Amino acid sequence: MERDLPTIINAAGTLTRLSAGPLAPGVLQAMALADETSYDMAVLQAHASRCIADATGAQAGLVTSGAAAGLLLAGAAVLARLDVRRMNNLPLTDGPDEIIVARGHRNGYDHALRAAGAKLIEIGLPEPLSGAGIRDAEPWEYEAAIGPKTAAIFYVASRLAQPELIDVVAIARAHELPVIVDAAAELPPAANLRRFVGTGADLVVFSGGKALRGPAGAGLLCGRADLIMSAALQNLDMDIQFSRWHPPADFIDLARLPGLPRQGIGRSCKVGKHDVMGLLAALDHFVAEGDPTRHARWLSICETIVDGLGSSAPTEVKVSGSSDTECVPVVEMRFSDRDLADRFHRTLMELPTPIHLARHGFEPELLTVNPTCLREHEVEPLIEALKL
Ligand SMILES: *Cc1c(COP(=O)(O)O)cnc(C)c1O
Repeated sequence: MERDLPTIINAAGTLTRLSAGPLAPGVLQAMALADETSYDMAVLQAHASRCIADATGAQAGLVTSGAAAGLLLAGAAVLARLDVRRMNNLPLTDGPDEIIVARGHRNGYDHALRAAGAKLIEIGLPEPLSGAGIRDAEPWEYEAAIGPKTAAIFYVASRLAQPELIDVVAIARAHELPVIVDAAAELPPAANLRRFVGTGADLVVFSGGKALRGPAGAGLLCGRADLIMSAALQNLDMDIQFSRWHPPADFIDLARLPGLPRQGIGRSCKVGKHDVMGLLAALDHFVAEGDPTRHARWLSICETIVDGLGSSAPTEVKVSGSSDTECVPVVEMRFSDRDLADRFHRTLMELPTPIHLARHGFEPELLTVNPTCLREHEVEPLIEALKL
């Protein structure tokens, strides 16, 4: 293959579009080890379930092909539960199929819930975004939207998310409805692995290719054992007869089923053994490394960049997040207006090895260098390019 394949320097963060970041130490070895042997995939996912349960405090877990796939499987789980006929019919539904979501939580990734067959019922008004209001969705609005067709409540976690998850969980509990939380990009802090489950969420998704530094095509779903069992049944390959299948009973309890579903709606986002083993190794490393060490590693890259720029910085440059070990520190470059920022970024992206920086929707004059995907050998060329 004598073709030239262009590469980039990704200083924009763990974006899927830019191939995410380098794998955590041990991940590639775990994937290589997976390659040396064979597994029964139900046994492998049952093992993953126990590892994910340990790391998250959830009853069970599943390695998925990304957080978005986790959302599709979560949707399939709350729509079908353990009803095999319903599993086979998805995305068509004849039972409860509505998932309530605050308008301010809507985003492109919730397409995955709709792909499973859910209808999203919107509530609330994100007034602060207009600058005219101070209120967002309120707990009573969730309560008021609940009816016989409600299957679940969907909540997108972020530092700014309103209302509080604990208030949404209380309402869902009162109506025996599951709460699905999208926490795809909510690591670090590592405490978030347990926070949403601890608050009472029934299913939580995390991306494996972001700060976890697992395979870019992996993620994890964790939560209640019966819902994870449903998700697994709709994701695992089902080309087997009921009487000949013996999955670990703590993961898939066949006594609760009349028979097996056919290939489920989640079969199209299958995971391979390499991704399962890689994700588990990444999870181990993420927990073991801890926030302070991880933050210090990123901060050192940021400081090297700021020091390296010295007086040749193209504009005002500073490190943000240097004292909060629960966040990702970044180098902020604030230009006097949006055009200058655009022009500077375009110059970087037209280099023989294009450099991508992070942009911020509400602050177009700001460019940031995110250290999470930078390799050591990329830092010097990055500094030289920023001096241009
Ligand atoms: C990144 C992201 C996803 C998708 O995660 P993948 O692992 O790439 O599928 C979903 N939701 C939110 C909020 C995200 O930031």
